Amino acid sequence: MRYCKYLSNENGTSLPRYALVEKRDGELWATLPMQAPQEDLTARILGGVPVPTLSINFEPKPLSELKLLPPVMPSKIVCVGRNYRDHAAELGNDVPTEPLLFLKPPSSLLGPGGTICMPALSKRVDYEGELGIVIGRRCYKIGPDEDVRPYIRGYVCVNDVTARDIQKSDSQWTRGKGFDTFCPVGPIVSDEIDPVAGAPTTVSTWLNGTLKQQGSTADFIFPIADLLRYITSVMTLEAGDLIPTGTPAGVGAVQPGDRIQVKVDGLGILENQFAAE
Ligand code: MG
Repeated sequence: MRYCKYLSNENGTSLPRYALVEKRDGELWATLPMQAPQEDLTARILGGVPVPTLSINFEPKPLSELKLLPPVMPSKIVCVGRNYRDHAAELGNDVPTEPLLFLKPPSSLLGPGGTICMPALSKRVDYEGELGIVIGRRCYKIGPDEDVRPYIRGYVCVNDVTARDIQKSDSQWTRGKGFDTFCPVGPIVSDEIDPVAGAPTTVSTWLNGTLKQQGSTADFIFPIADLLRYITSVMTLEAGDLIPTGTPAGVGAVQPGDRIQVKVDGLGILENQFAAE
């Protein structure tokens, strides 16, 4: 299943809605309205997945004609740093022996097409294209032999935007990674790729139309199952939580007006632009 979240104009009121997404003639279309996932106990048991509904007036449209919103509402965003050898090397870091985790606040979320604000506090802002895991069911201390896939709702494109100078000057990454708009995500959540089960996918990033990053999830230092076991050895993951899994080599600085596209095969293209504060 693939779905998006968008802003629907209904009788002069803007409402967030979900829709089922299908491919038509090579383009992604919103084809069927969906009810929002309920944040109650039943939804947690069922995985908090939006459910198709016919009760809302709806006309199928290409995603390019919708005002898209982040398709996730995470209680937390748990990021993985340095999960590709070539990216660790390009910033002069050793390959980690354990996953390196940090948090981005949910206030950093931004939808497809939104403008990433380059804070006046920073002199260097970088893009980082990544595969994001969307959690589907509460999990804690996932066992060493347990299949992690029942806990995964799907996958999504993420841009782990970083104020590189502030990340380097602070011993914690909270400021450098945590500015508002520093977590673009979308356009769709899909469970139709399965990088856990030996079907790797490709993460690519274009800056103003020029390919800058391209990496395969087959090259992860820590595979998805190991990451989820490691994270849940520390904290409970809730349905909707977002796990950006690290960026391949080729990160770089941006300028106001730059256009950035993150593509994960099977998940559409996440496009945003940068503007000075
Ligand atoms: Mg990153």
